[in-house]
Amino acid sequence: MITSKTSFIALIGNPISHSLSPIMQNAALQYLGLDLIYIAIPCRNEDLKIVLNSLKKINCKGLNITIPFKEKVFDLCSEISPIANQLKAINTLKLNSEREWVATNTDVEGFIYPLKDLFLTNKNSIVIGSGGAARSVIQGLINLNFSTISVVSRNKTSLDGLIKNFENQIKIQGLLNNDDRTQNVIKEADLIVNTTPVGMKTATNETNELPYGEIFWKSLNEKTIVYDLIYNPAPTELLKFSSNRGCMTIDGLQMLIAQGIQSLSFWTDGLEVPFHVMNDALKQYLKKNNGNF
Ligand code: NAP
Repeated sequence: MITSKTSFIALIGNPISHSLSPIMQNAALQYLGLDLIYIAIPCRNEDLKIVLNSLKKINCKGLNITIPFKEKVFDLCSEISPIANQLKAINTLKLNSEREWVATNTDVEGFIYPLKDLFLTNKNSIVIGSGGAARSVIQGLINLNFSTISVVSRNKTSLDGLIKNFENQIKIQGLLNNDDRTQNVIKEADLIVNTTPVGMKTATNETNELPYGEIFWKSLNEKTIVYDLIYNPAPTELLKFSSNRGCMTIDGLQMLIAQGIQSLSFWTDGLEVPFHVMNDALKQYLKKNNGNF
């Protein structure tokens, strides 16, 4: 029950009305019996500083940060974890004893979660896209001891930036999506991760598309695991296509939940919530809403 003692955790971003985090985090807070609720607060760009500074003064126990503020909050934090610095992105904040924001990023842990028991050491991987999520994915693949990473993108500038950032840590190459070498790389891949929003359900997007079109995927074979960071729709067109080719597939819901579990642990100094608690809440919500959110 919400009482005068109840405090809160908030998601700050714009837009956030589609976010599933309140559903899964409130289920987890209830499971743990904490007198806390989780709410989504839309925030305009020009208000970010005043919003974060104001939340320090009231009963706020932590924050998630999402698009478009994952980089912009750096200047508003007094302590930043090595992983957030490495990724140049923050997705979770809490207050320290001086009531200043301490920041971290839980996306890498979230990404790794569905892969960590699949024995992928020394395997070959492909990352599709070169935006913010690709950075977390590449760090995750390095942590899992993959042998090679090929990043395929339509954007030469961000592609070059990513390769430069990670080239000292792993054998990594960047390829434009129309480069003929991509077909060989796809043939040899043990894991392909889609980090583009192609296939994601939005007000305007077509969901029946594959990243770079169907021809790009002609060399995909059944030994490859295909992981799409998108969780709406589930499965995406890419995962349906890959499954028809005999591939093992992973959707973005597991990453969403696993990063949420890590954030909750950060806010509560180590409390753990079982995966199924958040998963069941999301499945129930999505079923009730026919997958629409
Ligand atoms: P981002 O920073 O905007 O990066 C998107 C990347 O996809 C960029 O390289 C972009 O290229 C490329 N791209 C966009 N539209 C494309 C198209 N039509 N064809 C080919 N490439 C295209 O976004 P992000 O933060 O990385 O997020 C990407 C996706 O991951 C989103 O769908 C997001 O929901 C999902 N995600 C899921 C989770 C999870 O927990 N499951 C976590 C993080 C992200 P340009 O630079 O040329 O536009």
